[in-house]
Amino acid sequence: MTAVALTVHSLGGTCYRVTDPAGSGHSHAVDLAARPVCDCKDFAFRGQARPCKHIRAAVAFRDADPQGKLLDALSEKDTLDLIDQPPRRRGPETPDPDAVTIAEAALAAWRRELREGKRTPTTFDGLWVAASAATHAREAQATPSIAAGWYALARAVVEMEAVA
Ligand SMILES: [Zn+2]
Repeated sequence: MTAVALTVHSLGGTCYRVTDPAGSGHSHAVDLAARPVCDCKDFAFRGQARPCKHIRAAVAFRDADPQGKLLDALSEKDTLDLIDQPPRRRGPETPDPDAVTIAEAALAAWRRELREGKRTPTTFDGLWVAASAATHAREAQATPSIAAGWYALARAVVEMEAVA
């Protein structure tokens, strides 16, 4: 990290909101897609040639979050068709109540198994993916369409596991 820490919030998928409390104080939208983009002036001026501080902060944030990395890894395998795009680009505009119920149940089950010693924080399975998606959904509450995407992912994983 640099001397001045930027605040990074995951918005789900590859999207982040980055704020520099010591700078303008305005937040910027960063998308760490194959070609990362930011909506700040620095990026508009220099583009891909030299990533702006918001993109670098978002990358550092993502790389520091092992769950985020693992979700990336999983997206290249069996969940590819579910999470290869940011959830905001598809699906319902607001969370589906049934999906919320299923996602919250998965998160509760994951926490219970963790508490009871039936799993560790690094037991990566379908329930973990569903619980992670539910957590992302909670963090994205300010943007209902993104939360809806994560809840839908959680439900899809739970339903996939149920028939497996
Ligand atoms: Zn920027």
